[in-house]
Amino acid sequence: MNRQGSFWNRQTETMPREDIEGLQDKLLRATMDRVWRGSPFYRRKFKEAGIDLRDIRGRDDLRNLPVTTKLELAAEQRRVPPFGEVPSADPSSFATVVGTTGTTGVPLFVPLTPSDTCEYCTPDSETWLRTLHSIGYTGGSDVLQSAWNYGFWYFSASCLAFGRDRARPPHIITSIGRTAWQLDLMRRLGTTVFFATQSYVLYVGEKARELGIDPSEELSVHSVVGGGEPGLLSIEGFRERLQRAWGPRVDAFESAGASEMGYLGQECWAHQGLHVPEDYLLVEIIDPSSGEPVGPGEHGEMCITHLRREGMPLVRYCIGDVTSYEDEACGCGRTHMRLQGIVGRTDDMIKVKGLKFFPSQVESVVACTDGCTGEFLIVVDKDQSEVLDTFTVRVEADCGPHDDVAACLERDIRALVGIRPDVEVLEPGTLVRSPHKAVRLLDLREDGAEEKHDKKMAYAKRLD
Ligand SMILES: [Zn+2]
Repeated sequence: MNRQGSFWNRQTETMPREDIEGLQDKLLRATMDRVWRGSPFYRRKFKEAGIDLRDIRGRDDLRNLPVTTKLELAAEQRRVPPFGEVPSADPSSFATVVGTTGTTGVPLFVPLTPSDTCEYCTPDSETWLRTLHSIGYTGGSDVLQSAWNYGFWYFSASCLAFGRDRARPPHIITSIGRTAWQLDLMRRLGTTVFFATQSYVLYVGEKARELGIDPSEELSVHSVVGGGEPGLLSIEGFRERLQRAWGPRVDAFESAGASEMGYLGQECWAHQGLHVPEDYLLVEIIDPSSGEPVGPGEHGEMCITHLRREGMPLVRYCIGDVTSYEDEACGCGRTHMRLQGIVGRTDDMIKVKGLKFFPSQVESVVACTDGCTGEFLIVVDKDQSEVLDTFTVRVEADCGPHDDVAACLERDIRALVGIRPDVEVLEPGTLVRSPHKAVRLLDLREDGAEEKHDKKMAYAKRLD
């Protein structure tokens, strides 16, 4: 069901394109000046590429700059711990530090100043309020409920719990898991908007049905917002399945973000893509082989430059997300560019037996299965004939191995991702813990995967 949304900041959100680009040029010059003065890492990088700060007058000059990669930042942060010489601001001005989850084995630290926290979804955040209004919040009687796996990366969760005025509805922070209790809470507190990973949003909807609850009839939820798994709602059938679970009165939205970049965008009620707050981020979609920008509707790699960040602004940061964009005004009236679904984060998605899914989907099942410690490892390989993929999920049982856990997981993982795994139940404490998000995938179909995995584990142990 579509609830027409409103605007939090109509003037900025509906700016003509030339005004958006003019504002971006101005903010970009200020950012480049800050980076040049404050960040030895970037000064070195630009000098090596023969770039002078005065060469950067606006967005058209950006393509002359080298891109920044995650591996490069990780190497720099290992060279000069903890932040490398990347930050542009003095450490005395840092309000907090967030980090990437280390899915690819290279966790990053991202220091934020008080002003930077507003790029994330804090109560004072402009982007957060724009988002709420774009999905139908009108300052009425909404109650928000968030069920994320609150780790180190998601600091804003605690901030969200505070700061209530007419602009901000009350927000209940529940963390992931204990699904029957989540549903009970929704009913008793009158939750209207539910935020979680796409997989968990689906899981909660289906669990409700299993428990005999029709979410559309018996709960007040009118919107569910999935994030953290870029592109999952674009996967064929996923949105329909979500809609079936939650019922016709509930609208499903996708949002996107990354620890290094902050909030990247979200679908509005018109569902024509994810609006990027272009006065906070300058997003280029480039052809990864040539580095040249691609046009609207064409697929390319997303490359992002911060426009207001103080602590550790990143310039032309390529995170590996493949997407396309449109910059015509949306049906909702907003003019900021729309990402047409993120096709995937190149380093996260797994393809097994022709089906694509994210490790976080398996995680959502493991997290909700009684008797598991929550730790798991997905192992993908080829069978003896070297033709078919094999799919194994190793988990730890709370009180030693038992068969029920394996049977439940095989059934529930198959229901969510479409393939039945072989589940190996191990003793508690067998799998290596990572201090951030654990390494969840060992893909033995890749050359040198085992050695690479061992290195990641050794790295995780060193950090622990
Ligand atoms: Zn829109």
